[in-house]
Amino acid sequence: MGSSIDLRDHMENDAVHNAFSKLVSGGKMGYKTVIEKKKVPPKCEKCGRGGDDGQKFCPQCGGKMSVPLTNCPGCRKPINEGQQFCTECGYKLK
Ligand SMILES: [Zn+2]
Ligand SMILES: [Zn+2]
Repeated sequence: MGSSIDLRDHMENDAVHNAFSKLVSGGKMGYKTVIEKKKVPPKCEKCGRGGDDGQKFCPQCGGKMSVPLTNCPGCRKPINEGQQFCTECGYKLK
């Protein structure tokens, strides 16, 4: 077996990462294995109107659009819309 190839030569970090990404993403190349942040559309602070991604001001009332929190800044626990405090650590969300 003089022609055996040392696989490690072909497994540089990127290649391994891509192969792994391909595996976990079902074939999509370049898919990052990091946990993807769920995109949350911004919401008007004034009238509560849901906006589109990238909107900074409400098209209805001109109020400021802000992206609602999806995880507690204190403990990272997912929070539900309308929650005032984190149910896990008591962090004040509003
Ligand atoms: Zn508004
Ligand atoms: Zn919390």
